[in-house]
Parts: sequence; structure tokens; C-alpha cells
Amino acid sequence: MKPPLLAVSLALLALSVGCAGRHVEPPSTALDEVAFREHVRILASDDFEGRKPGTAGEQKTVSYLVEEFRKLGLKPGNGASFTQAVPLVELTAIDTALSISGQGKSTEMAIGQDAVIWTKRVQAEVSVEASELVFVGHGVVAPEYDWDDYAGVDMRGKTAVMLVNDPGFFTQDPALFKGRAMTYYGRWTYKFEEAARHGAAAVLIVHDAAAAGYGWNVIQSSWTGPQLDRVTAQGNAGSAAVEGWISAAAAKALFAQAGMNIEESITAASHRGFKARPMNLTAASKIRNTIRYSSSSNVLALLPGSDRPKEYVVYTAHWDHFGTTVEPTGTKIFHGAIDNATGVAAVLTLAQSLSRMPQRPARSIVFLCTTGEEAGLLGSAYYVEHPLYPLKDTAGVINIDAMHVGGPTRDVSVVGFGNSELENYLRAAAALQGRELRPDPKPEEGEFFRSDHFSFAKSGVPALFTKPGIDDTERGPVWGQAQVDAYFEHRYHQPSDVYSADWDVRGTMQDLELFLAVGERLAHDRRFPNWYPNSEFRAIRERDRPEDGKGRPQE
Ligand SMILES: [Zn+2]
Repeated sequence: MKPPLLAVSLALLALSVGCAGRHVEPPSTALDEVAFREHVRILASDDFEGRKPGTAGEQKTVSYLVEEFRKLGLKPGNGASFTQAVPLVELTAIDTALSISGQGKSTEMAIGQDAVIWTKRVQAEVSVEASELVFVGHGVVAPEYDWDDYAGVDMRGKTAVMLVNDPGFFTQDPALFKGRAMTYYGRWTYKFEEAARHGAAAVLIVHDAAAAGYGWNVIQSSWTGPQLDRVTAQGNAGSAAVEGWISAAAAKALFAQAGMNIEESITAASHRGFKARPMNLTAASKIRNTIRYSSSSNVLALLPGSDRPKEYVVYTAHWDHFGTTVEPTGTKIFHGAIDNATGVAAVLTLAQSLSRMPQRPARSIVFLCTTGEEAGLLGSAYYVEHPLYPLKDTAGVINIDAMHVGGPTRDVSVVGFGNSELENYLRAAAALQGRELRPDPKPEEGEFFRSDHFSFAKSGVPALFTKPGIDDTERGPVWGQAQVDAYFEHRYHQPSDVYSADWDVRGTMQDLELFLAVGERLAHDRRFPNWYPNSEFRAIRERDRPEDGKGRPQE
């Protein structure tokens, strides 16, 4: 097996060869910090208008990426084209209402305050009437945990009321699901899908800041206003007509109206033996939409493999961000410098190094810059549904979303720690830097399900996603954590996420070196990494690659 960090040794070799004589020095394969900074500066500049899909900012971003990939001599990733068109639809709810009747009372929910609802169905109007409410606990069907919240209940036409996260989180029992760490079953995306599979007409998730990992304000800001989605053949007819969240306070009142004790219901739902409970209430709801179609693009380039070109390693980073907002003080731009100009710049910088290696990697490498991540992983979801390279032949995905822009650290955080064997590659590369892997400190927030690698995971492809380390080499972990906290408080998803020439990118380059080493080793490897045995994604991979799964020792 090839040693990692080959890139670095080759770079040194190139340097020494260059010094030896007067012949032309090959282009350096070392990671180019100057180029990295320049990509971030340009992508996060005012000129790119916050890189929102469907705007002039998208056109500039896509042109920039195509031009950079072309300059590196990479092949177009989609036949003769560097882009993959991603059809999108934008729904804006212009009129919504939700009322609950029963037990001698009728309650009109205050939209925004008590409830935020929408429809994914591409229809001008949807409505639900006299739909019986059923409390379905966590709304989970998980055969591997022997758990079925829908057992024995017919949900057709009814309204499912459920909790966010999973029983492991609520009980903190390490033996239940994954204990404190959120499984996919805890994610709202899963819950809406599962309820729809059972024929529910409406789905209401009870918000809880701790269990969701964010406050009610995030529900209000993310789920109101124009909502971008993928265009599906049936216009999302398979989704429940109405989806939404209700606030903790509104849920308390709702359970009271039903004559149920909410605390006791939550406890019961988090233990084995729970059965769905009819609430003896009915819901009525109406949503009117405006509908707008548009098209956006994933941008991708290919470095063909020397030996096994039909096997693939994929680097991903989303290029999109939130565009602009009009405020009383004027138009503000969401520059998205860290999120995710750094990730895109990283992909370009890695592509630069990898394309200049004298010895081509054995497997092909795909550089994929996705659209619509911020609106719900739309570009990556589209890609895995319309893969340009077979997913079963894709050895692994390294996703880069929001890089560390501080000094070097002794650690690197792995989101979804304990998921796949790609961590073995990362651990080996980190050890060569004298660094350690650190489990995601807040696994209950389900961050693993919140960036593009997850679209691949859901399709069985092992996917790696890291976050900045916090143990700053010079200033320690308390200082490091304070930097992370300050980012989330003052910059994350705000116009203030801007590039600065003052960034200390030593840590960034250190992480980039890791991504290079992991990708390179994976690209030279013969084996296909798998998910660890306790992962909810392993069964999908073994279905696609039955030859890999059984009886093979773990690395
Ligand atoms: Zn991001």
C-alpha cells in the first residue's frame, strides 16, 4: 500500500531535481497557499453577490470554476461539459393556515409563532381537512434497532405528530440507537419521508432546541420565504400534503387539548414497547404557493486514473450560498467566505496538486462543486440520483464544507465519528502530522446529515466529513473552542462571513494536506472501504458491492 503524503515527498523530490540542473522544473505539486487565498478572495468578493443559485452570482461562480478547471488541464466531468444541469423549483407559501379541533375546542395556530408549515408538493394549493392526529413518538421505523413507531396504525389521511431526534438522545442510553449521537432516524428529513411512506396527509414535528440542535428562530428563518427544491417527475406528489414544525409551547398546548401529558408521552415514546397514540383531535390546513422553475449547475472535472480509471474518488464542496438580502440600511451580501468559498478553493487547490503529480493516481479523481447545498443538499442529491460515475465504483467521498482558518491544531474533528473506514485513512495521515482525530463533540446535533457527503452516504458511498480541530498548537483548546463559538455567533450564515488577508491559514493548509493524503491513498488503493458494522449505511453498500462486505478483516 502506498504511503500517504506522497504529494509532499514528490514535491521535495521535484524541488531537488530542479536545483540539480538547468532543465525546466516541473510544476510544483505542493499545496499552493497563494492560489487558495486568491480563490477564496475572489469567490467571496462583492462581485459574486453571495453565489445564490439562479442569480448572476451563480453565472460568475460557474464560469470561474469551469475556467480554473480548464486551466489545470482537467477533463470536463460530464462528457464535453464541465457542468451538470440541476433543475430546481422554488415554492413560496403566500397563505398558510393550521387549526386543531376536538375535545370541545378549536385552536388556530399562529403561523410563524406556533407553527411553521409548508408543502413540498409542486401545487398552487394544498389542503387537509378533518385529519385525525396521531402521536407516533419519534416516527421511526428502524429494523436494525428493532423499532417501529408505526406498528399497527393506519396513517392514511391522518396527521402524524412526532418528536425530533431519536430515543437514544432522549434517554441518553448508549444501548438505544446510538445513544447521544443522532442517527439518521433523528433527522427531520427522514421523519417527513417515513410519514409519507405511511400515507400521512400531514406531518408535524415538535420542536425542541436541544433535540433539534437549533432554536425556533432557525425554523422560522429557514422554512419561510422562497424554498428551493429539486424538480421530480411527479412534483413531489409522494410527500405528505403538509409538513411542518410546531413550537415547544404550542406542542404543550396541543397535548393539553388532547388531554395528554406531554412529558409522559415523550418518556413513553423513548422506551421500548411504545405504541402510537390517537390524540382524538383533527387538523385542518391550507397552503397556497407561488411556483417558479429555474435551473442551476453542479460543476465537475475529472482527472483520469492511470490504472483503474473506472474507479473513482470524489472531492465535493458546495459553491452556493445565500445571495443578498435587502435591509433598511441597504442591500447586504452573504459573502460565504468560510462557508463555502474555502471548500471550493480547497477543491481547486487539491486539483492543482493532484493534476501535477508525475505519477497519476491509479483511480480517477472527480472534483465536484455542488449547487443548492444551503437549500437542502439539492445538487448532491441530484448527482446521486443522476450519477455521472457509477456510485458502486466510487471508492469514497471527501466533502469539504467550511474550512478552519486559524493556526495549526493538534486535532481534527470527525463529524459522524465511527461511521466508515475512511477514518482509518484519515487517522494514518493525521498521525504523520502528529495529530489526532477527535470525535464530533456534539453528535446529538446530527451534523453528519447536514452537508453534501450525506447524499452519498445515503446511497451507500463511504463519505468523510471533518470539522476544524480546536486544540490550537500555540494557544490550546479553550482558545480554539472560543474561535469556533465566535464563528457560529458572529459569522455563520451572516453577511459578515468575509475573507480577510489576515487569516492565519497554516491550519487550513494542514487540513488540506490531510485531504490530499487521504484522497491520494484512496486513489492508489485496490480495496473499497466500507462502513463500520454499526453504521446505518453499511447495508446499502453491501447491496451494491456484495463482493466487499463479508468476511473481510477491518483495517
Ligand atoms: Zn456550507
